[in-house]
Amino acid sequence: MDNKNTIHGDILGLARKLHPRQIEWRRHLHSHPELSDEETQTTAYLVKELKALGLRIRPLNMTTGVIAELDGRSSSRTVAIRSDIDALPIAEQTGLPFASVTPGKMHACGHDVHMATVLGTAAVLAQIRSEFDGRVRFLFQPAEEMPPGGARPMIKNGALDKVGAIFGLHVDPHLKTGKIGLRDGPTMASVFDFDLTIHGRGGHAARPQDAVDAIVIAAEVVNSLQTIISRDIDPIDSAAITFGKVSGGVARNVIADRVQLTGTVRTLSPKLFRKIPLLLKRTVGGICKARGGRFTLQAVADYPVLNNDSAINALYTRTYTDLFGRSRIAVTDPVLGGEDFACYLQKVPGAMFRLGIRNPKIGADKPWHSPEFIVDEDAMYFGTSLLAAAAVDYLNGRTA
Ligand SMILES: [Zn+2]
Ligand SMILES: [Zn+2]
Repeated sequence: MDNKNTIHGDILGLARKLHPRQIEWRRHLHSHPELSDEETQTTAYLVKELKALGLRIRPLNMTTGVIAELDGRSSSRTVAIRSDIDALPIAEQTGLPFASVTPGKMHACGHDVHMATVLGTAAVLAQIRSEFDGRVRFLFQPAEEMPPGGARPMIKNGALDKVGAIFGLHVDPHLKTGKIGLRDGPTMASVFDFDLTIHGRGGHAARPQDAVDAIVIAAEVVNSLQTIISRDIDPIDSAAITFGKVSGGVARNVIADRVQLTGTVRTLSPKLFRKIPLLLKRTVGGICKARGGRFTLQAVADYPVLNNDSAINALYTRTYTDLFGRSRIAVTDPVLGGEDFACYLQKVPGAMFRLGIRNPKIGADKPWHSPEFIVDEDAMYFGTSLLAAAAVDYLNGRTA
């Protein structure tokens, strides 16, 4: 057996031994969810646990989030491992004994599991620091669920300084526990969130000839913008435009002078992403002009396309095959959900793998953001083993 396999064997043993403690971390975090940019108790808990594991906490000029570091034999190369830490404004309905104790808030996207998995990785690596040649930086990032997101401020605070590669994970209820999912290239959509206001001229409901009806214009805008998808983009590319909220008007017998629309555009094509503001303005501008109204368009936030690096996926593939076998690796489909891990991947090579958490016997088959979202906690053993082993392999120079 070569040296690499010996280290992998050690990692599997340490991850297995750690698992009960990891479940405690996860259940504590699950019980105490905090919303995006409000993760103060979560941050304090992570700092406490990371310090107890012997990690160094890096100064961070943010109200929430943690960056911690662990040095191996040297600090010659650095690999970063990222977990998001925020929960959602959802009332939990799992009935689990460790369910959220905070009404209306829930870890329904698995970020509690990401934290415990990455904490576990820190715990495993802290026990074998003489076995790897470099530094591991752990990024616990706030506000993934709320664009513009926490990744950008983390990067501004030096999260990627001297980082050669970054690893990320997301739980996936479509993959059985023990499996991981990988995909090279564009995997999650770019997000363009915008606020659109249509301005007309108010008036009496019975005298439309004296007014400019903002509701009629808005209705035309909502329909016409769907035509961008069918007529303005290459049918090979995929995109979605959705208005999640439309509000306007004051009374039945008054023509509305203003309508506000909140929308989001998702696409996997960077070329299309750059064109979106132009396409929106052209279509909305044309309709407003024809009807005598006007509009204001405000970009609220955006996430870039998440582009997984094939060399890092090749590293995951080799490492995971050695740990658990090739048959446990699936190729996953791209999705139009957004994820601000994409911001790190614009700066350094890296990849986000999907961690299987599916186990219908315990109800772990509900979709993300469901109030009944349940995770098979065994998944953390697989995630931690992969992250720790991939970090060691990367730092010891076993990259593609
Ligand atoms: Zn989510
Ligand atoms: Zn998530």
